[in-house]
Amino acid sequence: MVADIARVLYHESTILSRLDEMAHQITSDYADKELTVVSILNGSFIFMADLLRRVPLPLQIDSWSVSSYHGTKSRGQIQFRQQTIADVRGRHVLLLDDILDSGLTLRAIQERLATESGAASIRSCVLLRKSVTRETAIDADYIGFDIPNEFVVGYGLDYNEQYRNLPYIGVLKEEAIRRHAR
Ligand code: 5GP
Ligand code: MG
Repeated sequence: MVADIARVLYHESTILSRLDEMAHQITSDYADKELTVVSILNGSFIFMADLLRRVPLPLQIDSWSVSSYHGTKSRGQIQFRQQTIADVRGRHVLLLDDILDSGLTLRAIQERLATESGAASIRSCVLLRKSVTRETAIDADYIGFDIPNEFVVGYGLDYNEQYRNLPYIGVLKEEAIRRHAR
């Protein structure tokens, strides 16, 4: 598994210090608000667990399962795997996703929340933001790290469901991408 990584971008200790800063900001921004965190699974499960344990607020958590990727290219449309979403009427929603790439995932989720949920506010937080020209005018409100336009895995991020359990974020080797390609 480790042999498939071309180079490590962020070790766990670096990620966790950045999460300390992000959590501090989120804690002060939502101090007197009714907060519901909506995390986009599966990619953000480790990010969510590490970040939210650093936010000492009485928040609620909902998780959405969506998929937009197949292999290393965004399919340009996202699929929701569940029909119902938590009641967030009048609450402040913070969306958590692992990585902002084309922005299509975040846009679709924000649109669904904006039309269906009655939330008081909707903001987003991503661990990684790729430096690409996004197909849609969308950005996140909280960003962990800006990364180059390469395919990364680890710390929750997968390639065909593998590598999620690596404790660091690394660039996947081309040969590993070819080997697992379906
Ligand atoms: P977007 O809709 O912004 O193009 O894609 C967002 C989703 O694509 C992320 O939630 C993530 O699941 C996946 N994704 C985008 N770039 C990468 C990447 O470099 N590595 C991995 N593992 N997933 C990615
Ligand atoms: Mg994802």
